[in-house]
Amino acid sequence: MGRRFARLSEQEQALIARRERVLGPAYRLFYERPIHFVRGEGVWLYDAEGRAFLDAYNNVASVGHSNPVVLEAISRQAATLNTHTRSLHENILTYAESLAATCPDELSQVMFTCTGSEANDLAVRIARNYTGGTGIIVTSHAYHGVTSTVAEFSPSLGANVDLGLHVRTVAPPSSTLPPGEVEAAFCAGVEAAIADLLRHGIKPAMLIVDTIFSSDGVIADPPGFLGKAVAAIRSAGGIFVADEVQPGFGRTGDAVWGYQRHGVVPDLVTIGKPMGNGYPMAGLIARADVIRNFGRQARYFNTFAGSPVAAAAGQAVLDVVIHDDLIGNAKAVGLYLKRQLELFCAISPILGQVRGTGLFIGVEVVNGGVPSPSATARIVNAMRERGVLISASGAHANVLKIRPPLVFSQSNARTFLEVFRLATADVEGRN
Ligand code: PMP
Repeated sequence: MGRRFARLSEQEQALIARRERVLGPAYRLFYERPIHFVRGEGVWLYDAEGRAFLDAYNNVASVGHSNPVVLEAISRQAATLNTHTRSLHENILTYAESLAATCPDELSQVMFTCTGSEANDLAVRIARNYTGGTGIIVTSHAYHGVTSTVAEFSPSLGANVDLGLHVRTVAPPSSTLPPGEVEAAFCAGVEAAIADLLRHGIKPAMLIVDTIFSSDGVIADPPGFLGKAVAAIRSAGGIFVADEVQPGFGRTGDAVWGYQRHGVVPDLVTIGKPMGNGYPMAGLIARADVIRNFGRQARYFNTFAGSPVAAAAGQAVLDVVIHDDLIGNAKAVGLYLKRQLELFCAISPILGQVRGTGLFIGVEVVNGGVPSPSATARIVNAMRERGVLISASGAHANVLKIRPPLVFSQSNARTFLEVFRLATADVEGRN
């Protein structure tokens, strides 16, 4: 085991050795000093020594770690019946109706999967069936998942994971152009990608974007920047897929879904991560005409997806998000956090732009105007040492990714900001 883990306890070093032995080399641990969590509650995670960490990173547990309402719904249904979608059950219908009700009328049908990757995999199959095309357009540092089909259009997996021959990448919406030029510039990129596909004899099937552009470094402004690109893919015969795995379920503070910030209605919406607050569930919401032919031609069954327990978990999460106004909380607390972070950035030599919306905020870290992945990693680790969890994203790994559970309060935000101030001062050499 390398020097990296020298400061860990004997017990933690033993766990890492066991991990390496039994899980092999593909798994990565967060932080220079990885953490051994044993318990979570609300916005707090606790390690094996009982130390509390403020979680400003986990979007899966969006209604809070160990949320009692979700736990009760899961355990009650698990104690009663857990079958699959091949027999009748109310839960899946009520839940699908609830999901469809969060969308514009056109998006009226729901299909269930267990992971976001599977949802995007299904979206490609439907897009290809509906359009007769195969071409896929994604942003240049997008992540959409791990199946072999989806890894082919997840460029953030890096140079060792090949993009498909039918895949084209476009620059994400610009964070440096004047706001009035962002929509047209993004559309120009999509049009160039469409033209390149056609030149190679490939008919476009879909443009898919994560509507908060998390792995591209968190890009949310100006609202509306997707409009022209969506029109362009449609006029080329393709469809628009909104990947809501990251921004969905209220995180943006604007609405339930990230695409709503941009005033577009997608043809397919893929969803996941926070959907079951940790219960593994995902899916897609579709225009009925887009999935009609696919459904006639291909039987769809996904053993664990849409089970009565999954539907109970999902319904409980959605109920908590709506009834506890977690969208309003994301907006208010997110705005407070963003404004305060902007004040820090105005006086810091290493902090640049603050981006994002609601409880999804990205802060650029630069050195002499150049992206600084090393300073970014130092801030992430300094915050971890001081008991607050965040991570980094972006093509240059220089954007601090702040994405707490949606139950993050104003008081949690104040704790966060104090630790952020100290951690950035550590890295600037001011402490
Ligand atoms: N799409 C996006 C935008 C994601 O961030 C992720 C997961 N990080 C996925 C899809 C894949 O989801 P899963 O890990 O559940 O397969």
